[in-house]
Amino acid sequence: MTKEYNLTIDGQKIIAQEGTSILDAALENDIFIPHLCHHPDLKPEGACRLCGVEIDGGRMVMSCLSTVGEGIDVKTDSSEIRQARTIAMELLIADHHMDCLACAAANDCALLDISAYLGIQPDRLERLRPSDKGLPIDESNPFFQFDPNKCVVCGICVRTCNEIVGLGALGFINRGFKTVIGTFGNKPFTESICESCGECVVRCPVGALAPKTPKFAAREVQTTCVYCGVGCGIYLGVAGDKIVNVRADRERPTNEGSLCVKGRYGFNFINHPDRLTKPLIKKDGEFVEAEWDEALELIASKFVQSKGDKFAALASAKCTNEENYLIQKFTRAVMETNTVDHCARL
Ligand code: SF4
Ligand code: SF4
Ligand code: SF4
Repeated sequence: MTKEYNLTIDGQKIIAQEGTSILDAALENDIFIPHLCHHPDLKPEGACRLCGVEIDGGRMVMSCLSTVGEGIDVKTDSSEIRQARTIAMELLIADHHMDCLACAAANDCALLDISAYLGIQPDRLERLRPSDKGLPIDESNPFFQFDPNKCVVCGICVRTCNEIVGLGALGFINRGFKTVIGTFGNKPFTESICESCGECVVRCPVGALAPKTPKFAAREVQTTCVYCGVGCGIYLGVAGDKIVNVRADRERPTNEGSLCVKGRYGFNFINHPDRLTKPLIKKDGEFVEAEWDEALELIASKFVQSKGDKFAALASAKCTNEENYLIQKFTRAVMETNTVDHCARL
């Protein structure tokens, strides 16, 4: 059985399981500690130096790297902590491109949120600001772009591609103030091993990795990706009668918040004007639109005439296992042939 510890955070008595970080224990109990490089899906790194807390009135530790202990007394705010965080934050922002009004992440930017929380003063930043990095934006990927001028080098994208995707397409390049994130050889994304899954994009806390055409949804519909039999849980973002984005369902056990490139970005076919929304029947050499009843009756009559070796079935990876089972059963038991195959074998 996992051990539990009693501790105090800002005077609030808390029970947390052994191995839980102080940061997670605080967040789970609605106590905010600023953090940029921490993500619940990833191993902690302690890179941004924002989540410092005091333990037992003495030493300051990074709360993402320190675990809970029996009877400890944690303070998340004091003049010393605030000063350390403010300096760490000013150094991060001073090196950050400040084109916030034109940024895709302006509505959801951890850097802006934490700046407001700490009360960062713009006049101090001007003094610290080095010359504009002027690094080129990588727009090679069709779905997202990478602006290294906005990157705070938190390493979340690097860890995401390593720990979640298992590909390792990204890494740190250079050192100190010149450190940037990049692909092997700092090549454009499309010339790297990146598979465009967007896992790093959705976890980037600022606008450095951002969708190319961000659109805001008025509401979301929970559903299942239709591209393959994995059946990842998704939320479709809807604006008017159009689907404008896709978000992974973190509660679905099949994907736990992850998606591949098809599930995340391959939704434009839904609204495409060329998409067939009615069945077509060939009449006098031309395909003409028909009603569903007419099409289904025609198919059933053709099936009756095609029993045995005239018939073959090709099943789809988009179907569930149960649907694919039914296709083979129908082929063997009703159509009296064993000629049945599956697109995933081709
Ligand atoms: S898009 Fe996916 S594969 Fe490409 S770098 Fe990001 S996490 Fe890695
Ligand atoms: S691109 Fe985003 S996630 Fe990656 S290091 Fe920069 S700020 Fe962090
Ligand atoms: S997101 Fe990718 S892996 Fe998941 S169901 Fe869709 S196509 Fe399959």
